[in-house]
Amino acid sequence: MTTTLVTGIAELATLDPALARELGAGASPARPTHEPTPDVTRLGLVHDVALVVEDGVIAWIGPASQAPDADQRLDLDGRAVIPGFVDSHTHLVFAGDRAGEFAARMAGTAYDGGGIASTVAATRAATDEQLRALLARRVAEARAQGTTTLEIKSGYGLTVADELRALRLAREVTPHTTFLGAHVVPREFASDRTAYVELVTGPMLAAVTAEGEAGRPAYLDVFCEPHSPHAFTQEEARTILLAGRAAGLGLRVHGNQLGPGPGVLLACELGAASVDHCTYLSDADVDALAATGTVATLLPGVEFSTRAPYPDARRLLDAGVRVALASDCNPGTCYSSSMPFVVALAVRELRMTPAEALYAVTAGSGASLGLDVRVAVGEPVSLAVLDAPSYLHLAYRPGVPIASALEMG
Ligand SMILES: [Zn+2]
Repeated sequence: MTTTLVTGIAELATLDPALARELGAGASPARPTHEPTPDVTRLGLVHDVALVVEDGVIAWIGPASQAPDADQRLDLDGRAVIPGFVDSHTHLVFAGDRAGEFAARMAGTAYDGGGIASTVAATRAATDEQLRALLARRVAEARAQGTTTLEIKSGYGLTVADELRALRLAREVTPHTTFLGAHVVPREFASDRTAYVELVTGPMLAAVTAEGEAGRPAYLDVFCEPHSPHAFTQEEARTILLAGRAAGLGLRVHGNQLGPGPGVLLACELGAASVDHCTYLSDADVDALAATGTVATLLPGVEFSTRAPYPDARRLLDAGVRVALASDCNPGTCYSSSMPFVVALAVRELRMTPAEALYAVTAGSGASLGLDVRVAVGEPVSLAVLDAPSYLHLAYRPGVPIASALEMG
């Protein structure tokens, strides 16, 4: 059993205001002469603390001046520590890229979901080893930028065997996997959509849920979007979501991305954990999100990469909706795994405060996966370190690689 004393922590975001009070936290570093605002208080900031880590688990948190002895020391030399980012929406199992489609879009071609078919073809053609290697590189890339928890969806297989393969590969790197057989209607079913919905809700769902507890996905997701001819209608999405729920899976929905649509209300009605995108919302959508507690996951990297209008985060926050932020890392609409980039967009473009953005990429996205994200004794180390004295630098220094997962060595 090895113990490590982590010192030199200028600021620790515990996400636990009660713990912060217990540890005698001072005022916020952002407003040293003012009372912290509620969004900052919620971060549970403490300063000049130390941690003891024992075999990957936090064994002690306290003032640096009272730190006990340990087998080894890790001096962070005045850096900030935050909970590792929870990227609760990714599509990391794929082959090929769509750089040409991106260039065409920047030249004015509209996005309608049709490009997904080219990724499906490339992914089906790849070997298991090729996909596993590509996935490992992307997971390492995310971790190097501070992401310690990933949700990964299938959705570029769209046959029973290829969806099963994608979920098995994803399960090798994370417990948080999502079956997205209903990503788009594949080309071979374009003239018989009903047959594809029957395949997804029948043999495909049966195969992925027959994996046993250790392998089965936690969630089923559907791309419900009337503005894309390739995505699923309200009735198709309802059928698919009900089948997933009946099979014991949690639900997630891609909704209201390209225009107003039924995705948000459907997600709220069926008790989905999260509805993702939420770019175009009616008052009824916002009311339903606030009333049901379904998490609204915003993916501003998509609006950036498709040159689309951003979602109205302030409207959601002011209504009391639980808001998460994630990358949606995928080869079509946002080929970025960078959660610091998401934070910078959220602050600059969605007008979230830096504290709201940090909360949304940790506690908010964690809540959408059923996780209670906080820094606590007895919890495994799942932290990110910033090459900066405060979390404020995440948005303040866009594009600068200051965040990385805290490695215990
Ligand atoms: Zn997505």
